[in-house]
Amino acid sequence: MNEPLKMSVSKSKCWDQCKKRYEFQYILKLPRKEADYHIVGHLLHKVLEDFHQAYIKGSTAPYNEVMKRAWKAAKIQYSPKLKAEAVKECYDMLASYLDWLSKQSSDFCRKILTTEEAFSFPLTDKVILNGFIDRVGVDYDGVLHIADYKSTKNKKYLKDDWTQLLTYAFVILNKRPDIDRVRVSYILLRHDFEHMSREVSRAEAMEVKQLYLDAARDIETTTTYEASPSPLCRTCDFLQECAVGKKTVFSEATYGETNW
Ligand code: SF4
Repeated sequence: MNEPLKMSVSKSKCWDQCKKRYEFQYILKLPRKEADYHIVGHLLHKVLEDFHQAYIKGSTAPYNEVMKRAWKAAKIQYSPKLKAEAVKECYDMLASYLDWLSKQSSDFCRKILTTEEAFSFPLTDKVILNGFIDRVGVDYDGVLHIADYKSTKNKKYLKDDWTQLLTYAFVILNKRPDIDRVRVSYILLRHDFEHMSREVSRAEAMEVKQLYLDAARDIETTTTYEASPSPLCRTCDFLQECAVGKKTVFSEATYGETNW
């Protein structure tokens, strides 16, 4: 019997955006570039995970002490791969988190329940949904709050793209039959921890399942992988391997060039 197909938010997104990219990443499994912004994201996620884990485990130490410890550990791991300005930028973002926390209720950190929680949810006996949820806590009004950290500079594109958080709401609401809605947020690390939030009903969250089943069916039956060039080609890990992407990016780059 075949192994179940493993789906995830990023795999499904990649499939929707460009089948060629999907082929490079998930079928040919070509190595991916480790861009600075990926390392910055890993560093920030690690610090925030360790910081909140300390309070989940019962720490009563002040926020700045716990943050300092979490920062030191993550810096040892990630800063050798980053320029000094990027490390400083991460430090400043985490300082702004402490500032943001100082304006929350004093029990905020005690109401965080999980960080970087892994899930593996069988959608059918042939499709499994995998992933990690950055943070789940309980809000001031008792509503369960699911959050995903975003280190993007451009927050506009998130405004109309809730699939990731709807997916996490789907997973959590399946585990919690006693509740009918959750709150979800993108937490914008480069924008003073601004929250882009909304509430999600059980009915809305359950609709997400079909998206993954449809994508899984297409993935299982597709044998040719078409390139879909777009502005995303500029940041595609496989640009150098992709003739269509290169043509798109490099013809854009020379548009308007007058030297000849
Ligand atoms: S460079 Fe563009 S067209 Fe090519 S695989 Fe990447 S996203 Fe797709």
